[in-house]
Amino acid sequence: MQETLHYIFNQGRIMLHKGEKYDILRGKDVPTFVTDALPHLFVETADTIAYASSTALEELPEGYEWVGLRESYHLLPKPLYLQAGKASEILYFDTHHRHCGLCGAPMRWNTPISKCCTACGEEIWPQLSTAIIVLVHRGEEALLVKAKNFRRNYYGLVAGFVETGESLEECVQREVYEETGITITNIRYHGSQPWPYPMGLMVGFHADYVEGDVSLLDGELSAAAFFGRDNLPPIPEKLSMARRLIDSWIDEV
Ligand SMILES: [Zn+2]
Repeated sequence: MQETLHYIFNQGRIMLHKGEKYDILRGKDVPTFVTDALPHLFVETADTIAYASSTALEELPEGYEWVGLRESYHLLPKPLYLQAGKASEILYFDTHHRHCGLCGAPMRWNTPISKCCTACGEEIWPQLSTAIIVLVHRGEEALLVKAKNFRRNYYGLVAGFVETGESLEECVQREVYEETGITITNIRYHGSQPWPYPMGLMVGFHADYVEGDVSLLDGELSAAAFFGRDNLPPIPEKLSMARRLIDSWIDEV
């Protein structure tokens, strides 16, 4: 029998049931205290049916909590956190594509993951913003940077959005040079991860330093330097691709 999951959102927060552990809402229907949700089926497998919906409800009864999507990483099993990310992206896509970009007529859902224009038939799918992130090696050191817009006081890695007409490798080279003034070589793929904040795909790389002095060229960074493994500043939490790259470098020795 298929199990039904409900991913219900309010302003970037997801409703979790709090029993002994935190969990997604399970059961055929949305809870009766949520009266304004319009569930959209977005995943159906042999085992699972998953719905995404949003509500304006702020106050929740005992046993339920609003939790930030990022924070849910620490509370949910990873498959549920990932599916919550997909649900969030589906809702973002829905609210940002109510009308057709070609003719302006209303859009309707066509499949669980695409919409179709009610007048001209144009079909659209959610578009991801692809971003690269790279750990640059110089001998036993790694290049860590502090972005001006980081909310917390830690160092991360050079990152940036892929531009149209650009390969991932060209983007890695460009971002490193634009942000720090150094040149790199030997760019190698590490892994990727969905980044539903709001519609991203992070692609992680390692690369090797060639030449140049670190300088903050384009004003996006407040600090950048090479660090050794025994001399690390505060680094990002486990959730992020930045941390996965840094951990893989730490584990090399
Ligand atoms: Zn249209």
